[in-house]
Amino acid sequence: MILIFLGPPGSGKGTQAKMLAEKKGLPHISLGDILREEVRIGTEIGRKAKVLMDAGKLVPDELTIELTRRRINQPDCRNGFIIDGFPRSMAQAEALTAMFAAQKLNLDKVIYFRLSETEAVKRLLSRAGIEGRADDNEAAIKTRFEVYEKATRPLIDYYQQTGKLFEIDAAQTIEQVFQSAFSGL
Ligand code: AMP
Repeated sequence: MILIFLGPPGSGKGTQAKMLAEKKGLPHISLGDILREEVRIGTEIGRKAKVLMDAGKLVPDELTIELTRRRINQPDCRNGFIIDGFPRSMAQAEALTAMFAAQKLNLDKVIYFRLSETEAVKRLLSRAGIEGRADDNEAAIKTRFEVYEKATRPLIDYYQQTGKLFEIDAAQTIEQVFQSAFSGL
């Protein structure tokens, strides 16, 4: 089973992806986590990405596409995977479609987490106190939403046209979202 989780920052897609990955025994691929790990261990990629991430901007497509290509080719992905936070731009979506076609992989569903910006910002600011992420501050959050609107929102249409988009109301509690979206999976 191959799933993509799409939605604005703070919509809970990372939390849900982790929970579902555990339930189904599938790898959870979070580009944000992969990048934060590169930053933590101080690689060349991490050094380049950090400035952009801290500002709430996207890191270059070539980089995230290559990291994704490598990750989905790992042996633990052969029975499927859940990707959260990728694709985030049209170029990334098209590259992923091409990757799936080349490897004869079938995308099952794209889960779209619908949440208002007001609610999402509230959640991100409360997460800031708990997780201490460098990009959970007001300036970076504002940029992340601008980037989401401009670069990522068009992907909703892109995937709607494939008939694989499933929308969920992400304003519910963690348990309600999980139950209503994934109890059948
Ligand atoms: P996330 O943990 O998904 O909120 O991602 C944190 C940050 O990592 C983003 O604000 C971007 O700077 C970077 N990032 C994560 N995924 C991508 C992606 N698909 N394309 C570009 N940048 C990304």
